[in-house]
Amino acid sequence: MLNSDDALDTQASVRRANLRRALQLVFRSPGAQTRAGIARATGLTAATASSLVAELIENRLVVEGEQAASTGGKRATTLSVDASHHLILVVVMQPTDARIALVALDGAQEHTRRATYTATTREDVLGSVLAEIAAEFGDRLLIAAAQLPGTTDGRSVLESVQLGWHDVALADQWESVLRVPVLLVNDVDAEAIAEAAVDDASSGYRLFIHIGGGIGAAVTLDGELAPGPRDRAGEIGHVQIEFGDDARACTCGRRGCLEAVASLTAMLGADFSDAMDADAIALLAAEADEAAVGAGARALARVIKLVSALLDPAEVVIGGPATVLGTRFLERVRAEIDYVATGTTQVAVRYADSRVDGYSGAAQVALSAALGVRWGSGRA
Ligand SMILES: [Zn+2]
Repeated sequence: MLNSDDALDTQASVRRANLRRALQLVFRSPGAQTRAGIARATGLTAATASSLVAELIENRLVVEGEQAASTGGKRATTLSVDASHHLILVVVMQPTDARIALVALDGAQEHTRRATYTATTREDVLGSVLAEIAAEFGDRLLIAAAQLPGTTDGRSVLESVQLGWHDVALADQWESVLRVPVLLVNDVDAEAIAEAAVDDASSGYRLFIHIGGGIGAAVTLDGELAPGPRDRAGEIGHVQIEFGDDARACTCGRRGCLEAVASLTAMLGADFSDAMDADAIALLAAEADEAAVGAGARALARVIKLVSALLDPAEVVIGGPATVLGTRFLERVRAEIDYVATGTTQVAVRYADSRVDGYSGAAQVALSAALGVRWGSGRA
């Protein structure tokens, strides 16, 4: 027998779960959902569905829209995501600049800006930018996400070679300025989540491989990250894949790492930098040493083949600056994996979708954390 406090707790948590389901239904088909639709999909009574919607409207999460198409009786009012109040702050950090966006609940970017800094001025510059944002948008901020190169447990930067950070409690620092929850997202993880949200075919595992000056991977399962318990999933760049005296030297001090063969620095030469734009990379790629690119494609293919045999992913997506390498590189990778290892099936390999904007992955992580819902259609 529950005592009355437990019973109240249970009621409150059932209510929270139902609010989340109702909100997810609106996020899944904004502008087309109705109170009756929510009742049908959840099995709740019409009165309960109406009460849930009333609370979501009061909390500025849902807004009433047009009248739904008549089905003979009284026209139902459609429900949409309320994009006019809550904002998600996304800060995409790089070694010398940060791109900043305030994203509304419908995914639209309401406000963007860029901050440039050096390693020495970074902390001060970001501190004042965050203070400005807190002053201007503080009452509308829901949550903030910092996207960064390096490993993170969501609260601290464990290790970022690019930013020169080791065990930095960034979320705590930013929360004291922004006064909303802050979470940290690895950049490759954010890219993988953004990619998984592009279309509805996100069921099963997806292997996402970012190739730039470094190589990192992320695995998503049904559109969500499948992280390891130690926040180190996807760190495949310094796994040795070449052996013997000819194995190339790597920046990490060892030899034969995947990055030493298949990073863009390895394939396009030391002139490559992650700060380059697509045109500059394309120019380098046009003059690239065919043997180096071929070796990179082969090394990458070996990794894809082995990981795919392990996970049986729906597809493998190559993202990051490497997408500039174009069809020729992709065809080389496909040719290298074009054999059936006994017992496995062939896996499709493609480039990341260029329509994905740079903020959507981190914004989705923040949205999930704050409200427990996802953008896009067809996904639970
Ligand atoms: Zn290495």
